[in-house]
Amino acid sequence: MLCHCKAIVTRYKRGEGAVPELPEVETVRRSLERVLVGQHIVAVTVREPRLRTPLAPDFAAALTGHTVQLVGRRGKYLTVRLHNGLIWLIHLGMTGQLIIRDPQEPLRTHDHIVIVLGNGQCLRYNDTRRFGLMALGEEAEIETLMALGVEPLSPAFSVRYLWQKVQQTRRTIKDVLMDQRIVAGVGNIYANELLFRAGVRPGRKAATLQHHEVERIVRATKAVLQAAIKHRGSSISDYLDGEGQPGSFQTRFRVYDQAGKPCRSCASPIQRETRGGRSSFFCPVCQV
Ligand SMILES: [Zn+2]
Repeated sequence: MLCHCKAIVTRYKRGEGAVPELPEVETVRRSLERVLVGQHIVAVTVREPRLRTPLAPDFAAALTGHTVQLVGRRGKYLTVRLHNGLIWLIHLGMTGQLIIRDPQEPLRTHDHIVIVLGNGQCLRYNDTRRFGLMALGEEAEIETLMALGVEPLSPAFSVRYLWQKVQQTRRTIKDVLMDQRIVAGVGNIYANELLFRAGVRPGRKAATLQHHEVERIVRATKAVLQAAIKHRGSSISDYLDGEGQPGSFQTRFRVYDQAGKPCRSCASPIQRETRGGRSSFFCPVCQV
């Protein structure tokens, strides 16, 4: 069933796309968990199978008739476990929204997948740019395919772990943090924000970091992600949680998309640097 999934999963490893990142996916996970766990999947309609890679032809049939056991998350992926042990893997791409709706509500233009639940509610997958991913597979297979690094909010993301990773690379610290094979779930927004908090410039070569700076980065990663989850993620383009609500962390950005505005700590203008089509934001005084 997973035979054609390898290519699509591989494309997500480098942390492409602006949102959603870990806090947004975790917020969606929490909102869906409340509704989905214990629910029977009564019917699945695929209105548009052409996501980033087409849905498997048997996707709807394979998902129908099962009960949701738990709604998990790994990095930026949702991992929904069904009663038959299969994992329903979901990546929201850039504009994917998975929202519980009243079945009476008219379908929207980009509602590509409609899932009817046993309680009569509907789960709709809407994705304007169709960069999302949905697949079903065995847990072990999926874990191998994703090849993700440690979860940043778990004890496995430690100073010792990151210290070891920064020694082995010629890349910048921001590229290291956004590498899903090293840390799963951090993208451009939170990499910029956490590096501001840690006082380290995004363009800094990882191998030049001092041990105390790595300590600050690990602490800042956990603090920024936790704060963002508390504020239900950042809504800067299409992101909405499972109940259709936006997040509010975007009002708390210190550097991301703040170019030219005064740093909230020292009032120097925030600078923007673009490399490889992706922008970095930093305070030239607070970050070294
Ligand atoms: Zn500053």
